[in-house]
Amino acid sequence: MPPERWLADEMLGRLAGYLRFVGCDTAYVRGQADGEIARRAAEEGRFLLTRDRGLAGRVPESLWIRSHEIGAQWGELMVRFPDLPHAVRFARCTRCNGGVRPVTDPPGGRWPDDAPVDRIAAGLAVYRCEACGHLYWAGTHSADVQRRLDRWSGDVRP
Ligand SMILES: [Zn+2]
Repeated sequence: MPPERWLADEMLGRLAGYLRFVGCDTAYVRGQADGEIARRAAEEGRFLLTRDRGLAGRVPESLWIRSHEIGAQWGELMVRFPDLPHAVRFARCTRCNGGVRPVTDPPGGRWPDDAPVDRIAAGLAVYRCEACGHLYWAGTHSADVQRRLDRWSGDVRP
């Protein structure tokens, strides 16, 4: 089974974003020393993803990501965790890793200007990050993300 909690180092921000898209609790660290990163992974029970081979060697629950390219990085994750989910779910905020929950009423009484209000009125689900307030709904962006995840995961849908 893939880990429930992850920690991505600063070279892996995009990979962290895609893990959040599939609902994985993924913290992202920037500008911290190796020792701090290793300690946080241990304290929070997070599986470390890093492009630093030396750091990976110091942390038992870790994976050294070799590739620079996001699709290949996802492939490396799939090799290690074949059961890694790859369906987009609105469960973690891709911006801040906060928990994301469905909302029925517009925060502040009004949906943002870019919200598809007609589709929301027709029943399209809207989700809100409990930490930063960012709103999510299924649309062209999430469909593009899903297509990429399918391609990287070798599960191309018709
Ligand atoms: Zn957020």
